[in-house]
Amino acid sequence: MESMFKGGDEDKFEVLGKYRLQETQAMVVGIGTRVTLRTREGDKDYLMLRIVPVGEIKKFWVFPTEHSSAEVGIITRTGDYVIQSSSMKSQNFIEYIRGYNFQEDYNERDALLHTLKTNDVGILQYKNFRGKDCIWYYSSFGDNSPLDILGVLSKDGLKASVDAWYIVLLVCGTLVLLMVINGAYLINMNRRLREEARLSEQASRAKTQFLSAMSHDIRTPLNAVLGLMTIAKNKSTDSQRVEECMDKGLQSGKHLLTLINDVLDISKIESGSFALNPERISLKVMIQDLVEMQERNLSDRGIQLLTDFEALPHNYVYADKIRLNQIYVNLLTNAVKYTEPGGIIFLCLYQQEIPEHPENTRLVFYIEDNGIGMTEEFQKNMYHTFSREINTQVNSIQGTGLGLAIVKQMVDLMGGTIVCNSASGEGTAFEVAIDLPIVEDEEMTDNSGEEFQRIEDMHLLVAEDNDLNWEIFHELVSEQEIVCDRAENGKECVEMLKEASPDTYSAILMDVHMPIMNGYEATRQIRSLEDDRLNKIPIIAMTADAFAEDVQACKDSGMNGHIAKPINLKILFSTLEKIKNGQL
Ligand code: ATP
Ligand code: MG
Repeated sequence: MESMFKGGDEDKFEVLGKYRLQETQAMVVGIGTRVTLRTREGDKDYLMLRIVPVGEIKKFWVFPTEHSSAEVGIITRTGDYVIQSSSMKSQNFIEYIRGYNFQEDYNERDALLHTLKTNDVGILQYKNFRGKDCIWYYSSFGDNSPLDILGVLSKDGLKASVDAWYIVLLVCGTLVLLMVINGAYLINMNRRLREEARLSEQASRAKTQFLSAMSHDIRTPLNAVLGLMTIAKNKSTDSQRVEECMDKGLQSGKHLLTLINDVLDISKIESGSFALNPERISLKVMIQDLVEMQERNLSDRGIQLLTDFEALPHNYVYADKIRLNQIYVNLLTNAVKYTEPGGIIFLCLYQQEIPEHPENTRLVFYIEDNGIGMTEEFQKNMYHTFSREINTQVNSIQGTGLGLAIVKQMVDLMGGTIVCNSASGEGTAFEVAIDLPIVEDEEMTDNSGEEFQRIEDMHLLVAEDNDLNWEIFHELVSEQEIVCDRAENGKECVEMLKEASPDTYSAILMDVHMPIMNGYEATRQIRSLEDDRLNKIPIIAMTADAFAEDVQACKDSGMNGHIAKPINLKILFSTLEKIKNGQL
């Protein structure tokens, strides 16, 4: 793509008028250039309009030092100033000349107006406001332009033979200058358009890559789940084999869920709707959990993990635990994945004082491995979604290329920094530093290890059309003392709510996609019921639609919360707990 724009009439531009910007009240000049835009359907002609602030033009005017009286302005064909230089007085150039030259002689004024209106260029000789004889040169900006550029030069000290030429040069110089500004603008515009075209090409390539990567990465664990189910079914009498299949199937299912959650996170971050939920957390508990989680992987792969968590003077901080953990988990899993058996990983979590903000602590996570490392070339792209180094070692390891993209985005979101130091064949080190508020109260109880609160005495109305989903849900909550009634679609849900006595249900869990009436419509109908005891009931979406837009759509229809399927019991019960406490 050589050039997107081509000057239609070789750099010819038209000055279209002067305007005052409404917001800033700044004076601007409108300039138009005829351009030909090369599109797939062929060349198309456009008039490219833009505005140049008057201040911007003035900045470029350079006057010859030997003629300090030289000035340039811009006027309309009727003499109104667009750019008024210091010796151009009054509101209007014609009125100004009249005032200092022919005063009450309005015929002369009309003659001057006529001259300006009918001629494209000309030289005038009038006195300025100091009574000095001056040469005024005006030149239009081109055909149809309602504006003239106007130069003025005092006759003092000028030789008669050169003065006229001088002012002509000055005005023409200004015209050339405007052309240069215009040209620079066009070049800049071209550059920007080319950049945009490149980015959109890249985005469309990334999308194709995304789809093929996703279908591959989803199929792999799904294939494992289905395969393992088949084996378990065929070997139903061999309880050990069945158990083995179940364990492996669960692992694959969890992997699939992580992958889908990663995609959701990326989409949330990219749509700008990602919010952090800071809470009081214990760093020691978090880091121990993190290491424990990897123990099996480490021993399976014969990798030694050395740790140092001693320098943590402020154990309690205020942070989004899930997201912070996500950063660390991704970096640690990568270190484990991309280090060969027998390798060593060193992991260190420590804090630094921030003298200018003593209420915060800088939490540094340092991880170093002596694994396969990364080439310098790849490191330039490592934070892009779906980027994975292309070599046989990496290709043989399961991965999607989303981990580092998420890490980088989360670190940015938390206002932290990430530094990588890696060399191919030698190893990799990542250092993440995030400033977090210190929680002074060391007495606080840490309940982060607790699975979930028990919920009792709740009666839920669950709108769910899918039998299998209902069966799973019912089974999962049956261990708690929660009573659930099922509605098979939105309409049935509204009817069941209306028919029950007003205080029967504590909340509604609402699927979104259902036959006859969907969850949005059912929610809207419930919200418009007359009885206040019914229309205020908490409604929580329980749906597989989990993109940021979906969550928003649920809120817009009047729901109070959103739980993504597959259901995470911890999230479900903490939501029910909130309902019980009247927080939702
Ligand atoms: P997943 O989405 O499951 O995390 P992934 O591990 O391939 O997949 P990222 O975590 O984004 O994706 O990492 C991107 C790539 O960066 C990896 O595929 C690998 O090529 C390289 N990489 C990341 N960490 C390391 C490391 N510690 N040592 C060597 N290469 C690494
Ligand atoms: Mg990874």
